[in-house]
Amino acid sequence: MLTPQIADKGVTRHILKAFGLHASHRLGQNFLISPAVVRAVVEAAEIGAGDRVLEIGPGIGTLTQGLLEAGAEVTAVELDKKLPAVLAETLRGYAHLNVVQGDILKTDIPSLMGGEPFKVAANLPYYITTPILLSLLEQKLPITRIVTMVQKEVAARMTARPGGRDYGALSVAVQYHTEPEIALDVPPNCFLPEPEVDSAVIVCAVRKTPAVDVKDEKMFFRVVKAAFGQRRKTLTNALKPLGVPKEQIEAALAGAKVDAARRGETLSLSEFAAVADGLTEQA
Ligand code: SAM
Repeated sequence: MLTPQIADKGVTRHILKAFGLHASHRLGQNFLISPAVVRAVVEAAEIGAGDRVLEIGPGIGTLTQGLLEAGAEVTAVELDKKLPAVLAETLRGYAHLNVVQGDILKTDIPSLMGGEPFKVAANLPYYITTPILLSLLEQKLPITRIVTMVQKEVAARMTARPGGRDYGALSVAVQYHTEPEIALDVPPNCFLPEPEVDSAVIVCAVRKTPAVDVKDEKMFFRVVKAAFGQRRKTLTNALKPLGVPKEQIEAALAGAKVDAARRGETLSLSEFAAVADGLTEQA
């Protein structure tokens, strides 16, 4: 049975005090203090012995300890310069850990992780959740599974289906690359300090091939971005910023059997793909 000892309010307070640390709001530091949530993240990541895991923002090592106990080989990237020294103490004795100090958005992940498959696990800093997720997906790294704590509202956007107000460019990007599923809702009292928002653990099984076939991925995402950029407008108007003549937009919509009066927020991934392919063929 996994026994993550750092995931405890008293232990976390003690570690912060011993190292003279204060949780930094600017760096999105809300440390997990629930062993049940750590166990749930590790289980959702389906860690087997020797699995390679990239952890983003290990903090004082709470989730890292759970991953290591389950047999993972963890590479952890932490921005806070004070924390590597803390991790060297809190995770002393665990052999399969490599802590790298740096910003995940500026980290050369292919060089760090190599070409073999790996998983991503994180309790993400909420101020940059979306850029981190999009960057991981767009780089086409050999990631098989992403399990992260995110703001509950972001989890809803990642899993949203066409038609609802949560459905947007993030939903399309995440669902194009992965099969996302909410594993667990997590209330504020599972963290120290408590965040002002509810959280959720989301599991994204990365697809071997994207959810839809497109002729030109760049065009697909340009269409998606334009459609949601002005989501209350009809597609003919919303797609104007693409700089394509109106007749071509209308021809692409007609070819895709998508009514020009519809709004982008009602289109499925396949419909976005059909419209984008129509524009690609005319380019
Ligand atoms: N994993 C720990 C836990 O669950 O208790 C800490 C999670 S805390 C919500 C987010 C962590 O990400 C913090 O340790 C913070 O310093 C780190 N962080 C913030 N911005 C980062 C970035 N750009 N790159 C890497 N780590 C970052």
